[in-house]
Parts: sequence; C-alpha cells; structure tokens
Amino acid sequence: MTSERVYIALGSNVGDRAAHLAHARARLNALPRTRVIATSRVEETTPIGPVAQGPYLNQMVLVETSLSPEELLAQCRKIEAERGRERRERWGPRTLDLDIVRYGSRTIREPNLTIPHPELPHRDFWRREIAELEAVSLA
Ligand code: ATP
Ligand code: CA
Ligand code: CA
Repeated sequence: MTSERVYIALGSNVGDRAAHLAHARARLNALPRTRVIATSRVEETTPIGPVAQGPYLNQMVLVETSLSPEELLAQCRKIEAERGRERRERWGPRTLDLDIVRYGSRTIREPNLTIPHPELPHRDFWRREIAELEAVSLA
C-alpha cells in the first residue's frame, strides 16, 4: 500500500469558522488509511472574487493517505456537507471548503478534479502555508 503526501486547503467564512476548521482536521485524521501529519498556522484572508462576503479563516493541512484522489475528493465533499455547506455560486460564502491543492507529484485533469489546484499560482497564502509545512516535514 503506497501512501502519498497530500496538501488540503481548508477555508471558512460563515458561522464559527475556527470550529469548522477543527471539524475538518479531526475528520481528515479519522478517514481510513489517512492521517494528518502537520497543519499550518490559521490565517485570516480577504475574500477572492466578485461576491461581497466576510473574511475567511484558512489553513493548510498535510496528510498522508492511500485513498485515491477521487476517493479523497468524495470524502472532502462529505465533510463539507457535515457543516451545512451549500453550493451556490463559485467563490461565494461557505461554512467549510476543502480543496485538494497537491496530491504527491500527480497531475490530474478531469472534469471534476484538477490537481495541482489551478489557483495555486495565484494564492500567495496557500504558497506560504505549503512552504511552512514543507519546512516542518523536512525537519
Ligand atoms: P476554488 O476551487 O477556485 O477555490 P471553490 O472552492 O469556491 O473555488 P467549489 O464550489 O468548492 O469551488 O468547487 C467547485 C468544484 O471544483 C467541485 O465540485 C470539485 O469537483 C471541483 N474541483 C476541481 N478540482 C478540485 C480540487 N483540486 N479540489 C477540490 N475540488 C476540486
Ligand atoms: Ca476553494
Ligand atoms: Ca472547493
């Protein structure tokens, strides 16, 4: 069983944001064949895109998993749904968002899954958080 190092970005800007992130961390760690290795600092960021909404809490989580990318995406959607995530417009307000930013060194281009996440080059806070986790996991 090979496992991969996967970076998952958490985001929340509705309700008890810190509690939503905590739920995501605990649930990721409890998934089958998966454990959380390291977590970045939590950062508050200004919303991206045209929709007026409150500030986000963001955090990057490094997990080791042998779930496939598709299985992991399905689990992420389930975890979002547990916090009452509603899917309306893209980039709209949400209780909890989980994005798979990197999955080992894999490149995936499917209709519902792009890895590395296409916004990675444009989100400085993700790049900062990943750098922070790389430093931890190399130590
Ligand atoms: P962004 O992806 O730019 O941060 P968003 O998180 O607001 O925007 P969502 O509405 O949460 O977008 O997701 C839209 C779709 O993106 C999901 O249904 C999912 O299938 C797809 N998707 C594609 N690549 C990924 C990925 N790497 N991680 C998570 N979802 C992805
Ligand atoms: Ca997102
Ligand atoms: Ca998302």
